[in-house]
Amino acid sequence: MGFLDGIVKGLAEIVPDQGNPELKAYKAKNELDDIAAKENAIFARLGRQVYADGGAEAYPAVKTELEAVAALRKDVENRIRVAQEETDAKKAAEQAAEARRCSQCGAVNPESAAFCQSCGNRLASPKRFCSQCGAEQPADSRFCNECGTRIE
Ligand SMILES: [Zn+2]
Ligand SMILES: [Zn+2]
Repeated sequence: MGFLDGIVKGLAEIVPDQGNPELKAYKAKNELDDIAAKENAIFARLGRQVYADGGAEAYPAVKTELEAVAALRKDVENRIRVAQEETDAKKAAEQAAEARRCSQCGAVNPESAAFCQSCGNRLASPKRFCSQCGAEQPADSRFCNECGTRIE
């Protein structure tokens, strides 16, 4: 059932039919749609059951179709995963850019810059060190690469 059908159906339920035969027929047809949907759901359940109980061997054409659908699903899931990774990478890049933003003028500087390229303000050091052994840590490390202490 389409989105608009749902709205029209909702209205039909609110408006009293007042003996209007067209409205009565409309309501009844909607009830038929609901019944058909229930029937389809039952058949779908039966189909899954039959397929699980050896139907894959009994109906090789269905198996082929379902495998094609599964391949499509995998492809779409893969696209979702890639898009999610791209989103994460974009966010990380934005955060990294934010971290290199000059507190004085707002300019974003290269990672290695010690002074703002725009205004010459000294930039906060992005370097991090282990509180335990003092070893320098990569920006994203969570544990010291020398002694394993958690990096705050
Ligand atoms: Zn600046
Ligand atoms: Zn350490």
